[in-house]
Amino acid sequence: PVDRSPEVQEARLKLPVLAEEQVIMEAVRENPSIVICGETGSGKTTQVPQFLYEAGYASDGRMIGITEPRRVAAVSMSHRVAKEMNLPTQVVSYQIRYEGNVTSDTKIKFMTDGVLLKEIQKDFLLQKYSAIIIDEAHERSVYTDILIGLLSRIVPLRNKKGMPMKLLIMSATLRVEDFTENQRLFRTPPPVIKVDARQFPVTIHFNKRTPLEDYTGEAFHKTCKIHRMLPPGGILVFLTGQAEVHSLCRRLRKAFPFRKGNTLKMRKPKPQREAGIGDEEDGDSDLDLGDDPADAEEKADGSIPLYVLPLYSLLAPEQQAKVFRPPPPGTRLCIIATNVAETSLTIPGIKYVVDCGRVKKRFYDKVTGVSSFKVTWTSQASANQRAGRAGRTEPGHCYRLYSSAVFGDFTLFSEAEITRRPVEDLVLQMKDLNIEKVVNFPFPTPPSTEALVAAEQLLVSLGALEEPPCTGRLKDMQRAKLSCPITPLGRAMASFPVAPRYAKMLALGKQQDCLPYVIAVVAAMTVREIFEDLDRPARSEDESSKLNQRRARLTQMRRLWAGQGASLLLGDLMIMLGAVGACEFAGCTPRFCENSGLRYKAMVEIRKLRGQLTNAVNAVCPEVGVFVDPKMTPPTEHQVVCLRQIVLAGLGDHLARRAQGEDLVDPKWKNAYKTPLMDEPVFIHPNSALFKTLPEFVVYQEIMETSKMYMRGVSAVEAE
Ligand code: ADP
Ligand code: MG
Repeated sequence: PVDRSPEVQEARLKLPVLAEEQVIMEAVRENPSIVICGETGSGKTTQVPQFLYEAGYASDGRMIGITEPRRVAAVSMSHRVAKEMNLPTQVVSYQIRYEGNVTSDTKIKFMTDGVLLKEIQKDFLLQKYSAIIIDEAHERSVYTDILIGLLSRIVPLRNKKGMPMKLLIMSATLRVEDFTENQRLFRTPPPVIKVDARQFPVTIHFNKRTPLEDYTGEAFHKTCKIHRMLPPGGILVFLTGQAEVHSLCRRLRKAFPFRKGNTLKMRKPKPQREAGIGDEEDGDSDLDLGDDPADAEEKADGSIPLYVLPLYSLLAPEQQAKVFRPPPPGTRLCIIATNVAETSLTIPGIKYVVDCGRVKKRFYDKVTGVSSFKVTWTSQASANQRAGRAGRTEPGHCYRLYSSAVFGDFTLFSEAEITRRPVEDLVLQMKDLNIEKVVNFPFPTPPSTEALVAAEQLLVSLGALEEPPCTGRLKDMQRAKLSCPITPLGRAMASFPVAPRYAKMLALGKQQDCLPYVIAVVAAMTVREIFEDLDRPARSEDESSKLNQRRARLTQMRRLWAGQGASLLLGDLMIMLGAVGACEFAGCTPRFCENSGLRYKAMVEIRKLRGQLTNAVNAVCPEVGVFVDPKMTPPTEHQVVCLRQIVLAGLGDHLARRAQGEDLVDPKWKNAYKTPLMDEPVFIHPNSALFKTLPEFVVYQEIMETSKMYMRGVSAVEAE
């Protein structure tokens, strides 16, 4: 029996998924696995775990587990469900990479998909669970895909052993054939239950012209127009990244200021000269809501403040929670979001969606491994998901900042992530699960054989897998390349929650008491962007001079952290080590980070990861007894030599040599490096510790293509 408050009761009854409770629970009882499809906002994530709970799935001492591809969703949904069920967070809990509130009383556990994968390594049968819900399966994140493959085997095993487990796969789109019609995955296709959308109609307005560059500016103009001319209702704007989100927030707040307490006695905002200019072509007819009868009474009032909130994955949870609360009275809610608002979170009260039509994705070159972030057009399915956000509570409008012809050229669906990135981490995890022939694994969408071969090769070179035999027929040799068994070193590496290259460094760290340093460096290399982005263009002269000051300060700090003498050769990794050490010494405060050009959030993450890696290392080799020392002294000269060897062992395939000889005739090779896999020159970034030294041989963490091909995380290697 669940004791819900009357308000929660009432809100639940409005959710379409509630009408399907009987159907869903009957299907769960009669089938080991089922698929539930329902539009975002229909109540899948918040309600289905409650159905299972009420049907007794958490009463035999086992838990109901729900996986989310995003940390944001795992945390916020666990809070929401706890609140709806009137249960404490010891009972409805969450677990994400570094933190959680799971207790021995936990009955419903939200977690990221990576967390569940780790649990499968510890207990393949997942005996703690009576049911697993894989949420947001349409996103096709790598771990989600792997989990579905694994669970397709675990569920029948549990049945055979007489302790049945249920699998529920939930998707916001109807495109589920990759799961249901994949004979290798489920021999009997699981039933698909469609939750009626009860979606209000959303009118789509296309731009006549498609801005190729300044879509943030276009989003600004459109939002201003909506606010000035259209009746009340929240606005949700989709952009591609955090920087864009903040820049648009700033502009809109300036245009329609909101201050606590100024909502009743309002100032008229200055007329915006910017808005509307250049908009003639698509005219204002696209803002016309003529056929909506409700509009007659509600008049737009452009003088009311706009309550502007950002929303993206890395935003602090308290900030994220704001979007669910009603905006202050007398204001209009306006949320500027990245993709997270597409399906993971449903924001109440949105009537207008502004969609830039783009998405930021990381791309990898299959051959060279070079990665780059690119903003590309999204898919038709995603654009339609975004539009759908406008029709949750009443009929809505979606303004697409691109033409219908451009939309027609979008791909229908986004590709599964697993086909777009290197897979060495997955292959190692799978080998550790004793899945020797990864090619035979029932992937919903398999990665390319090329990618699998490359992964096995790297793992062999790191010593995580056994060398394949070099004898026999060609065909057998090729097959052997794809089924190398795991080594004891590989098992140790698999227990570290970092990519295999870094796991190898951890495994070697015992020498010369280097472990604390290796842990700190690996943590820093694993967390993205530890330095603040000070190279961004300034918006005003004032900002420009501040940026210059901070840049100078960061340069100074970098020089300090890079150390002297032998340490210099560790290059960027020494800078990272110095930064982590200094930050910890100062107590890891926001102030220290701000003053030193470090990203506070990144430093907090590094701190947590150091703790976690330290525990993982102690679990593998308890005799070293490593601990996190807040007053870590810089490494000695001996240790630096040792650290460089360890780094080389992990990054050995990322070797680059200074261009020489005939190459130097061509100016494009000036100060450039050559790598085995690429014909093009790669460079050491001006921010790097080794930019001036330019050692003959270096290893790098990755190559990132921005204005040039730049190596990141560079350290020097001794020439033999
Ligand atoms: P789905 O998973 O099908 O997309 P959800 O279960 O996430 O749907 O959401 C159902 C409803 O619950 C939505 O209308 C959403 O607005 C509401 N909701 C979800 N989380 C919160 C929250 N933290 N605060 C208030 N309302 C919420
Ligand atoms: Mg959901």
